[in-house]
Amino acid sequence: MKRSAIKTTIMQAIEFWSERVDECFLSVDWSETHSHCWRCGCERNLQRCHIVPHSLGGEDKPSNIVLLCSRCHADGPNVADPDIMWDWIKAYKVPFYGTFWSIQAQEEYKRIYKTSLSSDLNRISDLASIKHKDEIANKIENSLKSLFQQASVHFGQSYLNTATLAGLYRMMVKQLAKEYNIEL
Ligand SMILES: [Zn+2]
Repeated sequence: MKRSAIKTTIMQAIEFWSERVDECFLSVDWSETHSHCWRCGCERNLQRCHIVPHSLGGEDKPSNIVLLCSRCHADGPNVADPDIMWDWIKAYKVPFYGTFWSIQAQEEYKRIYKTSLSSDLNRISDLASIKHKDEIANKIENSLKSLFQQASVHFGQSYLNTATLAGLYRMMVKQLAKEYNIEL
């Protein structure tokens, strides 16, 4: 059976949910939910996503639709309990626009290296006796700029995935440690 196109409009979904979910739980303000993904808060083309999947009886109506970017849509839960989608969206709330994927990469970094990126950078600053915040910030920026050329996107993806970004952070830390002769 071919699935018919979703009829619920973006505005209908926003009208419905803005009255029921407080934006303090989200990575996005309601005033920008027509253009910014409800999970990651990034400005993207948004997809109308079923909360309960069509295949599990989810209907085409505003109460069953949220707006996500393609990346978050692919990561989202597909289960029959409608609360799960909102549990998931709220759990990923970040306070500032544009920080979502960097924060996910820092979580990934912690998972892999059992230490946080910020504590690694603080350690390097301390051991290298870097007194000025600007100095380390400039080093980080320059290092990342050059390292981005050593990363690539997966075929069909338009972004650096979380593992790639976490890897770049690690390469940056290694580069700085080497420059200051510090053992990680
Ligand atoms: Zn997103």
